[in-house]
Amino acid sequence: MAKPVVLAVDDDREVLAAIERDLRRHFSDRYRILTASSGPEALEALNQLQRRGGSVALLLVDQRMPGMTGIGLLGEARKLYPEAMRVLLTAYADTGAAIAAINEVALHHYLMKPWDPPEERLYPVLEDLLSEWAGRVRPSFDGIRILGSRWSPQSFAAREFLMRNQVPYQWTDIDLDASARDLVASIAGDSPRLPIVLFPDGSSLVAPGNAELAEKAGLQTLATRPFYDLVIVGAGPAGLANAVYGASEGLRTLLVEQHAPGGQAGTSSFIENYLGFPGGLTGADLAQRAVAQARRFGVEMLIGQPASGMRREDPYRIVSLADGHEVSCHALVIAAGMAVRELDLPGIAPLVGTGVFYGAAMSEAVLYRDQDVAIVGGANSAGQCALFLSRYARSVTLLVRAPSLSPRMSRYLVDRIGVTSNIRVMTGVELTGARGERHLQQVALLEHEKGEARSLDVAALFVFIGVAPRTERFAGLVELDTKGFILTGPDLPRGSRTWPLERDPLMFETSVPGVFAAGDVRSGADRRIAAAVGEGSAAIHSVLRYLRTV
Ligand SMILES: Cc1cc2nc3c(=O)[nH]c(=O)nc-3n(C[C@H](O)[C@H](O)[C@H](O)COP(=O)(O)OP(=O)(O)OC[C@H]3O[C@@H](n4cnc5c(N)ncnc54)[C@H](O)[C@@H]3O)c2cc1C
Repeated sequence: MAKPVVLAVDDDREVLAAIERDLRRHFSDRYRILTASSGPEALEALNQLQRRGGSVALLLVDQRMPGMTGIGLLGEARKLYPEAMRVLLTAYADTGAAIAAINEVALHHYLMKPWDPPEERLYPVLEDLLSEWAGRVRPSFDGIRILGSRWSPQSFAAREFLMRNQVPYQWTDIDLDASARDLVASIAGDSPRLPIVLFPDGSSLVAPGNAELAEKAGLQTLATRPFYDLVIVGAGPAGLANAVYGASEGLRTLLVEQHAPGGQAGTSSFIENYLGFPGGLTGADLAQRAVAQARRFGVEMLIGQPASGMRREDPYRIVSLADGHEVSCHALVIAAGMAVRELDLPGIAPLVGTGVFYGAAMSEAVLYRDQDVAIVGGANSAGQCALFLSRYARSVTLLVRAPSLSPRMSRYLVDRIGVTSNIRVMTGVELTGARGERHLQQVALLEHEKGEARSLDVAALFVFIGVAPRTERFAGLVELDTKGFILTGPDLPRGSRTWPLERDPLMFETSVPGVFAAGDVRSGADRRIAAAVGEGSAAIHSVLRYLRTV
């Protein structure tokens, strides 16, 4: 944690050097001593500090300075650091101005020049003020800060991206914090695009995309080599397992992930049916463990980097990345999983990210403390999310189209929901739309049995209405089934036009030799974590057999 700052300001260089010397001698073990020789210079330093998330404990400012008086400076500085202790250095003749400043800028103290000996006339006063400051100010956060609005979808996206990648950050809602609003305006103007992300080195990004954010947050976004034995697209359970087994067999392995490791499983609030974890574990925990294991075996992992296509230049398979780079490999595994299907209903699209969320959106749960929220969907992922949100929200309404929760939801979740008092299950209802100004306020429903329309006031809606394979970038390159899942091995139609070799395709091999698919994205897969891990691991056997032929 960086030390809080004590800033001394005086236009007389000799006096300034003397203050600096005395302050350093007594306080430099606990505070960072900075100096400035004018009001504007001091304000610039304070602005810089604020961008970096630094804290200021005390301002010791000379009253008589050309351009901007000490009182003028303290007034401006108060807007940036309202909690900092404000001390005016005055000559005897300025006592009147100092007394007036007690009200004008809430001056905490004024000190007469000269202050010799400092042991008697400077240190005791400043010690008192600094201990008062330390008692009422919580330590500042010196990591990444996101300044945004709860009602800006991009602010949600940035928070969610960092949280899913387990990068710590501090969130400030500018609608609730005037000094953060001023800081945003000083960086990006009066109606900025949000969020503004501030980094500890003093730099900032305005409404960044995943790749920019990943790079600045220190996540790897560029491959270190042009060629790998194995490239895997997607770091869900299937891709991570594939990477661990591939690298442990000595393959130079690159994992390419567009969002965050863990995939769908990484968004799960609590996984209770994964073998070996009788007490259950969170998706974030599972992802973190798998990433650590993959890294230990030397897997390289690109984050925030979508694979945008693939081409074949025998014996190479070349993967293009969204930033224009390409990587080549001998074997490619597509483990791109599935994405929550989007709702095409009136009012939904403008509210996505400002009350309507696809999937679990765990970063948001705490923002809906003591509010009413709804979940649409009746499968396990919806049930898990309901239990998770019930810890924060006042009420959680589960909107289910079917006449009952089972058989789509596992028994253990149905039972748990049944005994959670703030979860209400509405069966036989269909979501027909959403309403709200700036953010979601109400959802529209149709009750099937009565054929009646009704509405429900909710602050958030979490959508789990089924999933679709993420194969749009591979359509036309590998053969898909009618629902868009990738066909592999024995499922490829006999005499397939695109299968070019004499031998039969290997298990998990797609219609392109050397290109494999594993996990939820594969036609016929059992869509569970253990199955995805199993497929990712087993696919390495086929990869190794294939590599012996190139
Ligand atoms: C909320 C929730 C809770 C769940 N809970 C359970 C549970 O308790 N037990 C259970 O067994 N199953 C559970 N499931 C199902 C389980 O998570 C999935 O079956 C499993 O995650 C599938 O793994 P996968 O690796 O095949 O795909 P995914 O998990 O979907 O991972 C695919 C990854 O590929 C990435 N990707 C996609 N396209 C690209 C591209 N072009 N470039 C780069 N990266 C790309 C995605 O960003 C994603 O990270 C749950 C699912 C959800 C949504």
